Amino acid sequence: MTDTFTYDALPMRVVFGSGSIERLAAETDRLGLRRVLVLSTPQQRDLADRAVGLIGKSAVGVFDSARMHVPVETVQAAESVASELEIDGCVAVGGGSTIGLAKALALGSDLGIVAVPTTYAGSEMTPIWGITKGDKKTTGRDRKVLPSSVIYDPNLTMTLPVPVSCTSGINAMAHAVEALYAPDGSPVIAAMAEQGIRDLADALPALSAAPNDARARATALQGAWLSGACLGATTMGLHHKLCHVLGGLLDLPHAETHAVMLPYVTAFNLPSARTAAAALARALRTDNAVTGLLALTADLGAPRTLLELGVNESDLTRVADEVVSNPYSNPRSFTREELIELLHNAWKGIH
Ligand code: NAD
Repeated sequence: MTDTFTYDALPMRVVFGSGSIERLAAETDRLGLRRVLVLSTPQQRDLADRAVGLIGKSAVGVFDSARMHVPVETVQAAESVASELEIDGCVAVGGGSTIGLAKALALGSDLGIVAVPTTYAGSEMTPIWGITKGDKKTTGRDRKVLPSSVIYDPNLTMTLPVPVSCTSGINAMAHAVEALYAPDGSPVIAAMAEQGIRDLADALPALSAAPNDARARATALQGAWLSGACLGATTMGLHHKLCHVLGGLLDLPHAETHAVMLPYVTAFNLPSARTAAAALARALRTDNAVTGLLALTADLGAPRTLLELGVNESDLTRVADEVVSNPYSNPRSFTREELIELLHNAWKGIH
């Protein structure tokens, strides 16, 4: 039971529901946006064009070159289009990469953002931005980059391939798991985290069996929203730190890395986080949270070892060294040797 806490709510409006993308113009109008740039990846250009049609005359262009990790060159190209078109806002349709680009644009301006997430990554719920220059990703927190309005339309997630849906869903679940033992938790966060995990644990096996199951898609997206809100409101621990370093140093895929690491870091942390362990077990509808997580990732066919992701055993000490180089909030303290052992277990699949 948390008896001392501070809860700082983030000011965001959420419109949720099947077909809710039809309300895009109402949301841009509500923010008073008159010159809107729609952002997407090249793969989601069709969806961007659909958004332009829905927004109508306030949509002045599309920038469809959003890329993973928000390269500075992409931000500069988008900024030059934004300034040429004299935009006052943008609509980001896509996953964390596209929403990340909208945030990078908002960092240096007063643009209003409407986010239309199509994965479960959760970036739309956080004030966290990131921009990559060369091989260095700089991140920060700034309320300026928060979308003012988020439209969650489960229909848009139907095209997300099952393997991506599953790893993206576990990526979302990781936000909620770490929020359960975050130093800045509160009863609100605990409730959102537990429900987010429950939604994802229920929905991911169902949508993996039937990718067009509308109820499963809606439940997964609701879980992603709640888990993303946890990420936005709390300080993440060892799991996120490890995934960040693994991704940065070894160029690993974001969601898959989360899927591999979550059971191992959870097994390491839960002995020092009893309340979190009980909440996680309840949410997974199991007696043992770690066994439950392992069973879920196996059931979903998600990658289960760092070896499967192409990591060399010799890289593990480099990762551990980088993680211990800066102190990080975590319920259980750790030594370099303990981290190497954890990484080795995750590399080889030792539970
Ligand atoms: P992504 O945005 O890179 O999307 C992956 C691919 O899937 C892209 O090609 C995209 O076009 C495609 N795609 C997206 N939705 C689709 C759909 N419904 N149907 C078919 N294809 C679809 O992947 P992601 O996992 O959403 O985001 C990862 C990035 O987001 C990472 O760079 C990560 O660091 C960042 N992130 C940031 C935060 C934050 O708070 N700042 C939170 C989570 C993730």
